[in-house]
Amino acid sequence: MPEPAREPLLVARDVSRSYDVRGHDVLALRPTSLEVHAGDVLAVTGPSGTGKSTLVSILAGWDRPTSGTVEGTARTVFVPQRLALLDTLTVLDNIAVAAMERADEVPSLAAALGVDHLLDRFPGETSLGERQRVGLARALHARAAVTILDEPTAHQDGDHTRLVLDALAATTQDRALVIATHDAVVVGVATAVVHLEAAVAS
Ligand code: ADP
Repeated sequence: MPEPAREPLLVARDVSRSYDVRGHDVLALRPTSLEVHAGDVLAVTGPSGTGKSTLVSILAGWDRPTSGTVEGTARTVFVPQRLALLDTLTVLDNIAVAAMERADEVPSLAAALGVDHLLDRFPGETSLGERQRVGLARALHARAAVTILDEPTAHQDGDHTRLVLDALAATTQDRALVIATHDAVVVGVATAVVHLEAAVAS
């Protein structure tokens, strides 16, 4: 029997983004198309300034494209570079926040990411690298169909990059990851790569 056709979780068609900078149109992202299917680990790569953050923000619904469309009904969760942790909640509550009814699962997830000794601290009492892993734990705890990460290893050393990749690898096959990264180690675990080219100056 042939396998049933897999519906994509997310489809972006010719998505571009321009900014008006003091009356000049600045192209931040050239028209880009992609599909995300269950089981995908899609790496978005390219030199700095080619629109990786812009593209993943648009896929996550945190930004809107100037042209093109993003379609899909799958639930997404996004870890932006600035992490967006809640300063007044402990690390435990930050991780649990999307699914408090499963808060008992947080300690083992936190241990997998090397932040289990920080659960009763506030984000401001942790390092940038630790906060990044807390943001990642929060996203994985949410179990969205599509988890979208912007440079998730930017503040990690080699050992902690490995922890991050192992935690991501534990994501089940019915979900997908989209990762903006310039880290070759991360690109190495991707099942597909979208390489962005520099936008043409206008
Ligand atoms: P990358 O993640 O690949 O480094 P970004 O998506 O952050 O790239 O940015 C792509 C381009 O868009 C860059 O040239 C950047 O200067 C520009 N850009 C990003 N945000 C803005 C903004 N708010 N206003 C004007 N230009 C912006």
